[in-house]
This record gives sequence, structure tokens and C-alpha cells, in this order.
Amino acid sequence: MSLSTYSSSNVSYDGPIKIQLGQSWFTAVRSQSGVVELKNLNIAFRNLSCAANQMTDKFKLPARYGAGEKSVWVEYIQLAAEYKPAVNLGQGFPDYHAPQHVTKALGEIATSENPLLNQYTRGFGHPSLIQNLSKVYSPLVGREINPQNEILVTYGAYEALYSAILGHVEQGDEVIVIEPFFDCYDFMIKSACGIPRFIALNPKKTSGTVTSADWVLDEKELESLFNPKTKMIIVNTPHNPLGKVFTRQELEMIANLCKKHNVLCLSDEVYEWMAYEPVEHIRIATLPGMWERTITVGSAGKTFSVTGWKTGWAYGPAALMLNLQVVHQNCVYTCCTPIQEAIARSFDYELARRDSPDCYFKSLARELLPKRDFLVKTLRENGFNPTIPEAGYFIVADWTKLENKIDLSSESDKYKDYKFTKKFAKETGVLTIPPTAFYSEGHKHLGENFARFCFIKKDENLNLAGKLMKEWNAKNQ
Ligand code: PMP
Ligand code: GLN
Repeated sequence: MSLSTYSSSNVSYDGPIKIQLGQSWFTAVRSQSGVVELKNLNIAFRNLSCAANQMTDKFKLPARYGAGEKSVWVEYIQLAAEYKPAVNLGQGFPDYHAPQHVTKALGEIATSENPLLNQYTRGFGHPSLIQNLSKVYSPLVGREINPQNEILVTYGAYEALYSAILGHVEQGDEVIVIEPFFDCYDFMIKSACGIPRFIALNPKKTSGTVTSADWVLDEKELESLFNPKTKMIIVNTPHNPLGKVFTRQELEMIANLCKKHNVLCLSDEVYEWMAYEPVEHIRIATLPGMWERTITVGSAGKTFSVTGWKTGWAYGPAALMLNLQVVHQNCVYTCCTPIQEAIARSFDYELARRDSPDCYFKSLARELLPKRDFLVKTLRENGFNPTIPEAGYFIVADWTKLENKIDLSSESDKYKDYKFTKKFAKETGVLTIPPTAFYSEGHKHLGENFARFCFIKKDENLNLAGKLMKEWNAKNQ
């Protein structure tokens, strides 16, 4: 800061005052000795704003993250807190209790005789949990999964995806992403300095009965994305948000391209236990020649309806899993012990009744099916055209026919689905998620006419959503 000092007998005041000399402004302050100090504000401001610019330049979000600072989850969870919608069909979580044996296990563990159940456990996965994950998945993939080096327990499926992507993607590597996609894939690829290459699922038809099976990939377009820089393809089946279950034929097409171009497959299967009969979830790792090049991701949050437990896993061949372990051991090291033990005991419980219809891996989809059917019917009755999901607990519904009933001009968002979901929530009290969040910038228009509804909710809340939409429709004839 520049400082000019001079004595003046004809300046008299008590506090600081501003004086202009020529082009410059000064603050005049008299010191105890009677000396008046003139502090140059212009220079101080210039220096300050220069310092501020340097600060903002230096500490801005690193360019490799792209537009990663915006998150639909952060924004819409905040909206739910602010608007307190009558029914929240936005973020995917059940609004009712998980199976009793699951929550009871956690309660018992926290107060158990064994003090070590509240201390750090093995970094790559708590012993009882990796043993049980091996017992669950070995028969499903038709090979003995080594619990020590072919399974990694992670902080939710999120961290499994993160460790797989950060562990395998080098600067400049390309990763093929199928749209709509679970939004964090894009950010994680960019964090690894990789390049996402997007291909959209498109509906074969848009009117009449549309199911998630109608949303398909163009084989030629997919083939054209594979090149020597391709490191990985991310496949999400069953799919969020569409509920699509990729068929054997579709998975074979992807598998053949992976083998031909020596590409890894990261298979996000968190909704694996929610396929509606007769549709069957197929693990791409079971296709010929695919175990060697596939990392499969699962989630306890989805498996046992405890999304707040934030525990997931990845499994695959030891050589591929090593890279994930390196990321995990240096940024997480070990996950929460009591939660892992509770999940292990929950698997014990389900493994003991594996072949019974009561097993949660079978009963969950049975429990969800009437909810899906109710919401499909309700949405149709209220002017939406829903895509009927073959799995999972989301419905993507086209709201084009409601466009003339809702004035979106008061909403300032860039994309129509953001405007629609916000205005719809304000007018009906029903909160949903805008699907453009699941598209890359160039393809956002593909999601703009849709809204995503979550139906793993109490029947009374689904009924209330139906009632509120009906009342809104009646008012806006
Ligand atoms: N993948 C998909 C497709 C998801 O929908 C989610 C959200 N549950 C995740 C991964 C992350 O799961 P988790 O809550 O276990 O981190
Ligand atoms: N997977 C859940 C969903 O799609 C939750 C995502 C999240 O909260 N980040 O709604």
C-alpha cells in the first residue's frame, strides 16, 4: 500500500476523510503526533483487486473437471429442503424401512462384545464381507472369485467407479459412455484426464406403449467410437434412469467390440436385484472372454435398501483390481467396519434362504412391481407418456403433452426439463429429477422433454402424488 505523509496546519478534523488531489483519491488520517497521513485509495484498490484476481485465477476449479461444479443431486436435494414438496419422487431412495434383519444386525454390532468391530478393518474389504461377496457372486459369474484379490469394498458404488476410472484411465485415454448416463461418470473420466465419448440410447418409438427395451444403441455408431485410444466402455445395466436391462444380444455386441479393440468394460450393476420378470439381468462378465476385461460394480445401498450406508464393491480379475486397490489404499484406505460387518451378516441371512422366494434378492422386485405399475398408470392418466422400466425404481416420462398447461417462463434454467421439474414441483408438490443431467452438453436436447420419477416410495406417498397430479390437471384443463 502506498503511503504519503506531510504536515498540514490548515487541515482540521477528527476521523478519516477522503481528499481528491488531481486524479487520485486519498484518505486523510491524523496520527497522535499531529501528522496527517494520506493513504492512496486508488492504488490500494488496484493492488487489492489485482491480488483478488490472482487469487481467483490461482484457486479456480481445475480445467480438467469441465463443468463438474454443477450437480443435479446437490441442487435438487436443496430444492427438496427449501420447497418441502408434498411428495419427493426425486433422488432414488426408499422412504420406508429396510429389511429388519439388516438394520437389526447393525444395531447389534455397534454394542457387541467385540471392541474390534468398531475399529479399522482390512483395507480392501472386511474379511466377513469379502467372503460373502465371493459366495454371492461366484455362482453368478460361474467361477470362484478370490475374496483376497478379486474384490474391493468401497465407499458406495461411487467410490468403486472412481477407483476403477482413476485406476485405469491415463491422460488422453477415451472412455465410451452410453447416454443417458449416471452423471458422475463424466466428471470421473475428466478427473483422470480422460476423454468421454458419448453415444445415446434412442427410443425406437415415442408414442403408444414405450418400454425401456425400446431404447437402443445404433450398432454402427457404437462401432465407430472404438479406436486405438479407447481404454474403457461404461455399461450400466439395469440402467439408471431408463430401467433398461441390456439383452444378451446387446451385451454380446459390446463384448465383441471390447475384445476386438482390447478395451475394458466397467459394468455398473447396482440395480442387479430389481429386474422385473420375465426380464433377466445378465452380467457381462459372464460372456465368453469378458471376465478378463470386466470390472463389475455393486452397491449395498441398492441391494439392501440402505442407501445411507454408502458401501459398495467392485469385483474382477486380480490384474485389473490391482489398479483400483492403489487408488483406494491412498485416498480411502478402509471403509466403515460396523457397516461392512452388518452387510456381511445381511448376506449370511440371504444366502441361507437363497433359493426361497422370500430371499430379498427375489422379493425386492416383487415388492416394487405394483408400485411401478401404479405409477405408470397414474402418469398416463395425467398426460405423461412413461417409458415402462424393465428394472430398477425409476420411470422416465415424456411430458410434451402437458406443455400447454404449464407456463415455464418464470423459470430461468437453460434446459426445459429443469424448468418443467421446478415449476411442476411448485404447482403440484411432486418433485422429480430433470434427465438432461444424464446427458453430455451436445446431447442435452434428447432429455429435455422428460422427467424422472422414483417409485421406491410408500404406497400412501405414491397415492398422494397421483392425487396431487390429478388435482393439478383438473385445475389446468
Ligand atoms: N451407479 C448408479 C447407476 C447409481 O444410480 C448410483 C446411485 N445409487 C450409484 C452408482 C452410486 O451408488 P452408491 O449410493 O452405492 O454410491
Ligand atoms: N442413484 C441415486 C439416484 O439416481 C442417488 C444419486 C445421488 O444422490 N447422487 O437418484
